[in-house]
Amino acid sequence: MNTGIIGRALKEGKIGLKTYNIRDYADNNRAQVDDYPYGGGAGQVIMAEPVYRCYQAAVYDSYSVKRRCVYLSPTGKKFDQRMAKEFSHEDEIIFLCGHYEGVDQRVLDEIVTDYVSAGDYILTGGELPALTMIDAVSRLLPGVLGNDSSPDIETFYRDLLEYPQYSRPEIWRGKNVPSVLLSGSHANIEKHRLAESIVRTRDSRPDLYEKYERKTGLIDKMKRARIQNIPASQALLFSDSEILFESDELYLVKDYDNRSVFAGCFEKKGISNSVKDTGEFTDLLSLCKSEGYEVYLLNLPETFAGEDLENLVMITFTERNPLSSARVRDHGKTGQYLREKISGCLSAGRTYYEFIPFSDDLMLSTAVSIGLYSSPVIKLKK
Ligand code: SAM
Repeated sequence: MNTGIIGRALKEGKIGLKTYNIRDYADNNRAQVDDYPYGGGAGQVIMAEPVYRCYQAAVYDSYSVKRRCVYLSPTGKKFDQRMAKEFSHEDEIIFLCGHYEGVDQRVLDEIVTDYVSAGDYILTGGELPALTMIDAVSRLLPGVLGNDSSPDIETFYRDLLEYPQYSRPEIWRGKNVPSVLLSGSHANIEKHRLAESIVRTRDSRPDLYEKYERKTGLIDKMKRARIQNIPASQALLFSDSEILFESDELYLVKDYDNRSVFAGCFEKKGISNSVKDTGEFTDLLSLCKSEGYEVYLLNLPETFAGEDLENLVMITFTERNPLSSARVRDHGKTGQYLREKISGCLSAGRTYYEFIPFSDDLMLSTAVSIGLYSSPVIKLKK
């Protein structure tokens, strides 16, 4: 922990670390913390009381009220980049590293919030998995890597593996750097890198490739249905996201980066009543809500899934060129509809908000579909 990028982050106080030795909390003077397993079997088990005392010491030193306690265990959920990202939002994490055959279940039941595995293999202790996780989480924290944008554009971004990288010299032992990389054309370089990423992913990680194909397939399907559900497409293309549900009529996309869920349908006129009862779809929506995700109904009727129109607001578009009330005025009937909604919200003390890059054309056509079909509804920033 004291070397390299993580060492620097520690020295600079960007991350903090304190280690505790369970032996220091033994309740006997031989510092014994393990004993034989009840019911027989090989090896020793770490006893509950020293672990509990050690945990309490860590909690006592803690500055946060909300904390996670991760038990490193091959029986846990497998660690991955998504989990690293989730952990990076925590103030503090306690990693409990087992040894021997593991830890008395009773204390685990008492203190552990997450069981996490480093992978499908058995190590002698939990320290190496803890270090791996600390490393993966720390580099996602602001300022740790120096260049803030770099964690976003590497392997696992968009379910694709990273393209091959090259550095100087241009020719190494008779091997050339691909010429496109020297061309200076950003568009061509991007295209080349994407193609390389696709080939690499298809060849060595068919499981990831399948996810990538599903996402691009969903975007194509929206295009074929002439549905411009931009927030969902953006989540699929640029965020750590997952298709939770997809049928002939409906889809549900979960955006882990922005903790949002986008629900839409492939029918411009909105969805028919018979499809409204799609149990799995509505169950998934409610589950996401209960997990604290913001739910955005794109081209679904406001009444769908029991959403209350009063708490939702039309929102509109663009980073550089927001659709202001003034601009809305120029859009005739649709504009009036939007304007009323927006001013209603503003007078109720709410603001409307925007984050979707749109072209004017797209803006207009979406505004039209809003007017005619009383949808895209996006949740309002209160
Ligand atoms: N008897 C346990 C079992 O079969 O699940 C394995 C115990 S292992 C020898 C000892 C400790 O190493 C565990 O308590 C755990 O903390 C850690 N450990 C071993 N393999 C691990 C893995 N793949 N991921 C996370 N922790 C692991």
